[in-house]
Amino acid sequence: MGKVIGIDLGTTNSCVSIMEGGAAQIIPNKEGGRTTPSIVGFQEAGERLVGQIAKRQAATNAANTIYAVKRLIGRKLNSPEVRRMQDTAPYTITDSPNGDARIRLFGRDYSPSELSAIILQRLRQSAEEYLGESVEDAIITVPAYFDDAQRQATKDAGKIAGLNVLRILNEPTAAALAYGLGRETAEKIVVYDLGGGTFDISILEMHDNVFEVLSTSGDTFLGGEDFDLRVVDWIISEFQKETGIDLRNDRPALHRLKEAAERAKCELSSALETNINLPFIASDSLGPKHFNKVLTRQQFEDMILDLVEKSLEPCEKALWDAKLKPQDIDKVLLVGGQTRTPLVRQKVTEMFGKQPSAEINPDEVVAIGASIQGGMLSGEVKELVLLDVLPLSLGIETRGGLFTKIIDRNSSIPLKKALTFTTVADNQTTVEVHVLQGERELARGNRSLAKFELTDIPAGPRGSAQVLVSFDVDADGCVNVSAHDKATGREQNIRITPSSGLGPDEIARLIEEAVRNEQADRIMKKLILSRTRLDGLIESTRRTFSEFGAMLSEDDQTHARQAIARAELAYRSDEIDKLVQAFNELEAFGQKLTESMFAAPASAGMK
Ligand code: AMP
Repeated sequence: MGKVIGIDLGTTNSCVSIMEGGAAQIIPNKEGGRTTPSIVGFQEAGERLVGQIAKRQAATNAANTIYAVKRLIGRKLNSPEVRRMQDTAPYTITDSPNGDARIRLFGRDYSPSELSAIILQRLRQSAEEYLGESVEDAIITVPAYFDDAQRQATKDAGKIAGLNVLRILNEPTAAALAYGLGRETAEKIVVYDLGGGTFDISILEMHDNVFEVLSTSGDTFLGGEDFDLRVVDWIISEFQKETGIDLRNDRPALHRLKEAAERAKCELSSALETNINLPFIASDSLGPKHFNKVLTRQQFEDMILDLVEKSLEPCEKALWDAKLKPQDIDKVLLVGGQTRTPLVRQKVTEMFGKQPSAEINPDEVVAIGASIQGGMLSGEVKELVLLDVLPLSLGIETRGGLFTKIIDRNSSIPLKKALTFTTVADNQTTVEVHVLQGERELARGNRSLAKFELTDIPAGPRGSAQVLVSFDVDADGCVNVSAHDKATGREQNIRITPSSGLGPDEIARLIEEAVRNEQADRIMKKLILSRTRLDGLIESTRRTFSEFGAMLSEDDQTHARQAIARAELAYRSDEIDKLVQAFNELEAFGQKLTESMFAAPASAGMK
């Protein structure tokens, strides 16, 4: 295997790294920058600009300058993130025949994978020039909460860029690898990753060179852009107060506002106040209008306090899932440019009761971790073992619309797990396997990933067939499901590539809904189980009665029919108590029935 590069394909900036002589090195781009803006600019003549130079053309050619393409990758046009982008991005977002988001440029639609590939290609070229040899193998990082479709689309981008993507690695895991390489101590590490578009938190345990991810959580509606928008809103309202002009629908002005807001935000990370100066931002009958005001850090912190506090909820969830308390954490790593805001650092310090580590560079650490993973796969780094996790539970729909979990969320991957299921009706020759992901007790509350059928099961009484359903989750977090009929050996396999990805926001929503609906779901589950149990008893009593009922007296036969009819009536009830009572009655009656049947021949013989 040749050299393996590690790529952090970020929403705002990207970075590439390589292992050299046992240490990770950041590879600078052609302009000498250690990170490259994740921006692609198209020009009418067909020329493509990447990075800093593309960023520069944004002011004059915003409609053909594509930024934050990571927010679109593997997503449908009708997903909330894409809708939000459509409202704010100066370029045109449209859809493809299968509903995936596309970007229209000079009359042609580009997929986000294609555009990401242009950035990847540039990073690859930088690496080849730096190393003086061709590079094919790469590790690319993604947010821990990226779903199967987004991971797949990122892999596709790598393929389009001519890369052999050896592994899709979770960003927080990469950060922890970068921090932990060469450290002997056993530590529990929190990686708090607040980037331009999303927030991810992971908790890892490091011991004896094993990196084990204990839990992960996040919020895809939270990132640096939200911070920028607060400043944009402030400028708009201050400007309106002064001039009466509303800039909200002035697209070119908005673009300048956004740039100025981001600049001010970054300056406020080191300065206590900053001047926002936007000459000629609008005009009216009296002439051109300018904006020129000072924004203090205190004012800025008041604007963003709720955003920073919003990031603490996923932190608590991740701690809960890892069964840890804040005081159990040994190290807090900050990743992502937005963590440079002092208020973010302050709140994280308060939450975990310790200062975040100052040892790592939040802009480079993910790429460094990716190159370490590359070194692990190429054999250059020998001593490390990495155990990552699945962000949401996986399972199938079972009788009565219940969700039966096969793999719990936050289980270590790669892993395989299987459970045996059976048929629910006599002579059932087909079973439908409905694969779902989520935390709810009922199937309909979870995300449907795929449905497939296993056919030609030998006919027989219900409960006789044995179908083994296996889940196989690979190291990239991608899922394969198979169903296997033990009697015939017949098997069906499906690789889950969901037609619409399971967005991180949706994951967060599913977990939140699951907690909210836990009580209601539990009651519904009990009702379904009680009903299923009663149904089984009615069926077996009916069978026994039809076979042996003639041995009973006329009176007992009438009682038997009545008992079965009562149970059938109760079966339709939505009250758990009635179902349980009917079950107990029929069970007691069934016992009496059996006893009198056994007694009948003996007493007949006595006469
Ligand atoms: P990332 O996706 O990790 O590259 O993070 C990019 C985000 O970090 C953007 O929203 C930037 O505006 C923000 N950012 C970069 N530098 C700073 C800084 N010095 N202070 C505050 N935010 C920053």
